[in-house]
Amino acid sequence: MSETKPVTKSSMLSVDEALSYLLEQAKPLAEVEAVETIAALGRVLAEPLRSQLTVPPLDNSSMDGYAVRVADMNVAGPTRLPVSQRIAAGHVGQALIPGTAARIFTGAPMPPGADAVVMQEECTADGDDVVISRMARAGENIRRAGEDIQAGAQILAAGTRIGPGEMGLAASVGIARIPVYRKLRVATFYTGDEIVMPGEPLAPGQIYNSNRYSLTGLLQSMGCEVIELGNVPDNLDETVRVLSKAAQQADLVITSGGVSVGEEDHVKAAVEQVGQLNMWRIAMKPGKPLAFGTALGTPFIGLPGNPVSTFVTFCLFVRPFILRRQGVWEIAPKHFNVRADFVWPKAGARREYLRARLQQGEDGMVGVSIYPNQSSGVLTSVVWGDGLVDLAVGETVQPGQPVRFIPFSELTR
Ligand code: AMP
Ligand code: MG
Repeated sequence: MSETKPVTKSSMLSVDEALSYLLEQAKPLAEVEAVETIAALGRVLAEPLRSQLTVPPLDNSSMDGYAVRVADMNVAGPTRLPVSQRIAAGHVGQALIPGTAARIFTGAPMPPGADAVVMQEECTADGDDVVISRMARAGENIRRAGEDIQAGAQILAAGTRIGPGEMGLAASVGIARIPVYRKLRVATFYTGDEIVMPGEPLAPGQIYNSNRYSLTGLLQSMGCEVIELGNVPDNLDETVRVLSKAAQQADLVITSGGVSVGEEDHVKAAVEQVGQLNMWRIAMKPGKPLAFGTALGTPFIGLPGNPVSTFVTFCLFVRPFILRRQGVWEIAPKHFNVRADFVWPKAGARREYLRARLQQGEDGMVGVSIYPNQSSGVLTSVVWGDGLVDLAVGETVQPGQPVRFIPFSELTR
């Protein structure tokens, strides 16, 4: 990695500076593999997908009804026409004999010569005839050939994350296998003498390792392969040992805890033994300490240990770093302004990310309120919230003002 900008003890990096330094180091994966479209959920498209087909391939009916020529119909009052053929979906009819109607079903190709479909609710079958209650409009209830996709057109750009809609779109043009980047392998471990895995009994002074669960969930929802290395006590040798193991197996190592500057924080020294490290103090809340570097050549990000800090710093820094490495082209989360239904009277010296919930006001407009306890240990606030209110350094808020809101749905996928 290249040298990162020096950070003196007293200075803090802004969120944007830290993010841009991180992204400079995020090298996209190169290895591509083909997966079946049905198994491509969450993968990232490595090449643009083009359609060989026109979709729909033929003009077809969007209704069950009768295909007609508008010219054969009475302008005022009903029209009686003999039914000259029946066309079901999957079958191709004959050219429509002038002065007749064709019984037709949804998805069936239009017979040449017909220029409208009247839905069956407006028609009455009468022996071999149909009586159509009103005049048809040219083009009604016809889906035109190519109205969705033209042959040769790009349907998905490289760098697209495959979701349910993308799977269906690829399938609609007959693509059964998709070229994707291989999965990013992320190794994780968790520092702290006090942390215990759920399922184990808790001794006095111990807490459960919740970061493992929230981080694993975040990584899984981003389509990463997680290599779990468990809990590591506050001990330099053990931290070096697990860190080396992690770095050998993964494309990225993420840890939580141990990145403050207390004497029980060994992550810094451990990374420096096998690589290099920048300790960043970022002007943000929750968060602040973030460690970034390499261990045995593998990128390393050390997140703060407080559960909300871990969650938020993952969303703001690790997520974009991972997206860039996964080859995703759109990495910025969407955000929008909403009306504050809270007061924030005191200007902060750091950018604040408040756990916040949307609600519809009496006027029908969306407002946002904040969880009463914004402490970085209160994971309840994350679950209560729909996202983060992003307050600039020095920003104060009066009720009714617009504030910037980033939904969790944008940050956790
Ligand atoms: P540290 O960054 O190691 O100083 O930890 C900061 C706070 O986060 C302390 O209260 C830790 O007990 C807590 N903490 C650290 N790791 C975890 C974890 N994996 N799960 C839950 N809390 C943690
Ligand atoms: Mg610790």
